[in-house]
Amino acid sequence: MSENSRMPQFPEPFWRDYVSLPSFPKLEDSISVDVGIVGGGITGITAAYLLAKENVKVAVLDAGVILNGTTGHTTAKITAQHGLIYDELMQHFGIEKTSLYYDACKEAKQLIEHLVEKHDIDCEYKKEDAYIFTDAKAYISQLETEKKAYEKLKIDSELVDDIPLDVSTKSALIMKNQAQFHPLKYLKVLVEQCVENGVQFYEQTTAVDVEYNKHPSIITRDGKRVTCRYVIQASHYPFYDGQGFYPTRMYPERSYIIAVKSDKKFPGGMYINAEKPTRSVRGARIKGEDLWLIVGENHKTGQGKSTMKHYEALQKYADQHFGINEFAYRWSAQDLTTLDKVPYIGPVTKAQQSVFVATGFRKWGMTNGTIAAKHITDMILDNDTPYQDLYSPARFQADPAIKKFTTTNADVAKHLIKGKLEYTENNIDKLTPDDATVTRINGKRTGVYKDKDNNLHALDTTCQHLGCEVHWNSGDRTWDCPCHGSRYSYTGEVIEGPAKRPLNKVDIE
Ligand SMILES: Cc1cc2nc3c(=O)[nH]c(=O)nc-3n(C[C@H](O)[C@H](O)[C@H](O)COP(=O)(O)OP(=O)(O)OC[C@H]3O[C@@H](n4cnc5c(N)ncnc54)[C@H](O)[C@@H]3O)c2cc1C
Repeated sequence: MSENSRMPQFPEPFWRDYVSLPSFPKLEDSISVDVGIVGGGITGITAAYLLAKENVKVAVLDAGVILNGTTGHTTAKITAQHGLIYDELMQHFGIEKTSLYYDACKEAKQLIEHLVEKHDIDCEYKKEDAYIFTDAKAYISQLETEKKAYEKLKIDSELVDDIPLDVSTKSALIMKNQAQFHPLKYLKVLVEQCVENGVQFYEQTTAVDVEYNKHPSIITRDGKRVTCRYVIQASHYPFYDGQGFYPTRMYPERSYIIAVKSDKKFPGGMYINAEKPTRSVRGARIKGEDLWLIVGENHKTGQGKSTMKHYEALQKYADQHFGINEFAYRWSAQDLTTLDKVPYIGPVTKAQQSVFVATGFRKWGMTNGTIAAKHITDMILDNDTPYQDLYSPARFQADPAIKKFTTTNADVAKHLIKGKLEYTENNIDKLTPDDATVTRINGKRTGVYKDKDNNLHALDTTCQHLGCEVHWNSGDRTWDCPCHGSRYSYTGEVIEGPAKRPLNKVDIE
């Protein structure tokens, strides 16, 4: 194996490497604005842009730096082809709502395209056909059924038996005229536009609660207050639940991405297979050369095998089908899926109409996040929006949601108990640098990571969200919660919610 084709030691997303993003101060004083947005990803930034254009006074808070959440770790296909979804949605919601779901995706794509043109954004925006392909006999009929759903929805599509990728295929369903882009190049310009229009950005500012007086206020971890007429939770996982019981109504799933160079020219198109394990492929450009992005190996966060094994599986797939010349990047990320696969976009509960959520994008947040921003800002601006019923977080349809609700929460209960009863050995002495183990110290389950300089970092592994036990993620060097997907650095800091407080440190000297 040549030096170039070795897997990078540390995870790093390709997108952040070639864009210099502005940085912003921490919120040091309480402020008052019209709309407080929590989260600087595609949802929060698009919403800030749309509101600022209408002279609304906006502040955006981010717990870390902007565009370093899921949006900074995405694949960035802009498509209404959200896997095999339309036949399923038709069975569950009927044709009218399914058609609305498709319209929303189309509207999101058009909005992105419009903003790219309007601001002349150099973000490698490119029209591409989207393919769902299969090599498994069992899925051929599912593609045919999905094609029938496309026809009912008048989606420009074609069923074929071969694809331009060098991957064995029995059938593929094409959705014509979709797109891809470099998400951070696009959003960087929207941030610049926001700043020009007076939006205040604050980084390293974690929102922990919403309090109501006459108006809602966002409360930060440092006790600062952002008083506003409306709050938009664009924080991926809502930081404020408001008794909407979101943890019981959605689950996080991680996926892995590798970016490699090959001797082969990328043939164009965007691809995802129908069967498991998921394999999704798109091209990108890096200094005039093709980069192949290969994505897949989905699993519930904090559950499953050693995370490095997932990267290895993608590496094997890429090498087998395309040949790896250079292994340029690897990274992973997670997204949330709701009970009925349709995002929750709207008031956090029926009774709290001035606090919005936008979540559950099921790894299709370029379109879902963009339409979430449009839909919520339309509600704030008193514009008509057709999507209120479709996306209402207060909806709860019995079938198949109840079944899924039961299994989602049974899974949480299983992990809650399993983690507490787990047998552990004291393996600290055997730890090699850059490795971790779980042991018991004074009867408490404790996670210990040994860094490259032989320093030990010991943490109480009880998640600060609802008390499940976190598991070591060797690929990212993080502690991940199997129940609701909170993630912590090896020093215990929160990387990803719903948890808001760090893991407790354990003294092992
Ligand atoms: C592997 C993978 C591949 C994907 N590929 C695609 C694709 O090809 N096409 C597609 O359409 N979608 C894709 N997605 C989905 C898409 O990337 C996401 O749905 C989308 O980026 C979510 O954007 P967001 O703005 O809602 O959240 P994020 O980008 O995660 O932004 C949320 C922000 O909120 C901040 N935050 C969180 N909590 C707090 C708090 N308490 N206080 C302050 N700030 C806080 C975070 O720091 C973060 O910056 C993919 C997802 C994954 C995981």
